[in-house]
Amino acid sequence: MARHVVRETGVVAEPGRCGHAGTVPAVPRPPSDVIVVGAGAAGLFAALTAAGEGGRVTLVSARPLAETASYWAQGGLAAALAVEDSPALHLEDTLTAGRGLVRRSAAEVLCEEAPARFADLEALGVRFDADRHGNLALGLEGGHGIRRVVHAGGSATGRRILRQLSADVVIQERIEVLEGRRVRALLAGADGRVRGVAGDDGRMLAGRAVVLATGGAAALWSRTTNPPGSYGSGVLLAHAAGAELADLEFVQFHPTAVAGIAGREGFLVSEAVRGEGATLHDAAGERFVDELAPRDAVARAIHRLLVKTSQPAVFLDMTAVDPARFPNVVAALREAGHDPATRRIPVSPASHYVMGGITSDLHGRSTVPGLYAVGECACTGLHGANRLASNSLSECFVFGRRAALASLDEPAPLPSEALSPPPSADLAPAPSRETRRAMWRDAGLERTAEGLRRLREDPHPLARLVAASALAREESRGAHARAEFPATDAALDGRHGVVPPGAATPTNVEWT
Ligand SMILES: Cc1cc2nc3c(=O)[nH]c(=O)nc-3n(C[C@H](O)[C@H](O)[C@H](O)COP(=O)(O)OP(=O)(O)OC[C@H]3O[C@@H](n4cnc5c(N)ncnc54)[C@H](O)[C@@H]3O)c2cc1C
Repeated sequence: MARHVVRETGVVAEPGRCGHAGTVPAVPRPPSDVIVVGAGAAGLFAALTAAGEGGRVTLVSARPLAETASYWAQGGLAAALAVEDSPALHLEDTLTAGRGLVRRSAAEVLCEEAPARFADLEALGVRFDADRHGNLALGLEGGHGIRRVVHAGGSATGRRILRQLSADVVIQERIEVLEGRRVRALLAGADGRVRGVAGDDGRMLAGRAVVLATGGAAALWSRTTNPPGSYGSGVLLAHAAGAELADLEFVQFHPTAVAGIAGREGFLVSEAVRGEGATLHDAAGERFVDELAPRDAVARAIHRLLVKTSQPAVFLDMTAVDPARFPNVVAALREAGHDPATRRIPVSPASHYVMGGITSDLHGRSTVPGLYAVGECACTGLHGANRLASNSLSECFVFGRRAALASLDEPAPLPSEALSPPPSADLAPAPSRETRRAMWRDAGLERTAEGLRRLREDPHPLARLVAASALAREESRGAHARAEFPATDAALDGRHGVVPPGAATPTNVEWT
């Protein structure tokens, strides 16, 4: 790969064409090479990588750091680090969890490169937990055949990693951080390549490429583990800019989100807790599911039990688990007056992670030149129909790095090149309370054609696309369950629901 000579690109916004004549400030000089949108794990790591290669980066983030899904991540990140482990074994578990829909090439990249990205994080100063012999402590989570999940501060992994990465970003002089700015549109140059963004403050930014790291969309559902900003804005911006989307019907519901404890509704109790021996019980105290089965199986078992018994929650027993191992989970519950060392915790499933998003290749490239997508907003196909626990943080670092490197190789814009004007409409509106309730009711753990048809009329554009994608997939597979089609259709193995630019419904496409 050619390595990047950083030059001043000389791109300017043309005030007369942007719809805010006379009010749009000129693009800062020197302009960036790369504009990274989003300051979660994927965005911070991509920004640091690009800057480390000599690139100039503008990092734009809508919300404060503590409101990213990355900051909330508990369990850790998966990497084949144990002596008895290997990328091939990690790949095997990833393929199994993904239920015949994993894009093998993407999963191979993840499993091969995760150990090196873990080493990068350590080199940056992230201190991962050690066991009492001083060796790296590896956790076991559902779907993993071996202990391979590294964590930091027990269940404070995301917080620890993000603190380190954001501290590094702040002192990196080639990164300009714009916090509290929401990107409301992507802007193309004269050649049709995406070269810039328009912010909600009227400011336009330009560079060689734009890397979207805007996170997932699980907060489109009313019961969720995600922060409120995770409603898929990047996915809608990319689609409006002509990018293809994929796999929108696949939404992971986490089995164990707190239910009915005031102040902690939806708070996630990490899968790692079950890896350390916590068990699930019905209202009569009986166990009813293999706690370490892949999370779609556990979540659906809970959902069906709750529907059958009309109970609001099942109970997670972590009394046999060392509280010191999960300090922030224990502290959060104790603060709410519920001690998990002595009492079972009421839990039920909540929307947690979207496998679908902006179609992207092994270097994070979307289908639109100049536009990249990494982290949860991207869909490389690596998770298939069901993400293997803790593969998503690894994905942020593996593909965040790849996209950063590739984006620096984009051609520099022509001198004085103008950008397309931003549209006046809000392309990625926040969902209303009604939309979020409708998503939970009609695109939840078990979907019906009737509910999905109703959801196709929802005012929110992403709700409609999810509904159309779920309606088109007439089978049950991984995280997607259709009441009328309870079986998996082998003819759909490897076939992804792809929403082409401008389309409202998906086309069925085989990915290799
Ligand atoms: C409670 C919880 C626990 C989890 N635990 C784990 C775990 O243990 N292991 C694991 O692998 N995964 C875990 N996950 C999933 C994982 O955290 C996420 O998939 C991952 O962190 C996503 O990172 P990201 O960088 O793509 O997005 P995020 O971390 O969500 O960051 C998105 C960023 O984009 C910004 N943004 C969004 N839209 C715009 C816009 N229009 N303009 C400007 N900025 C914008 C946001 O402000 C934010 O800065 C967990 C998720 C949750 C919610």
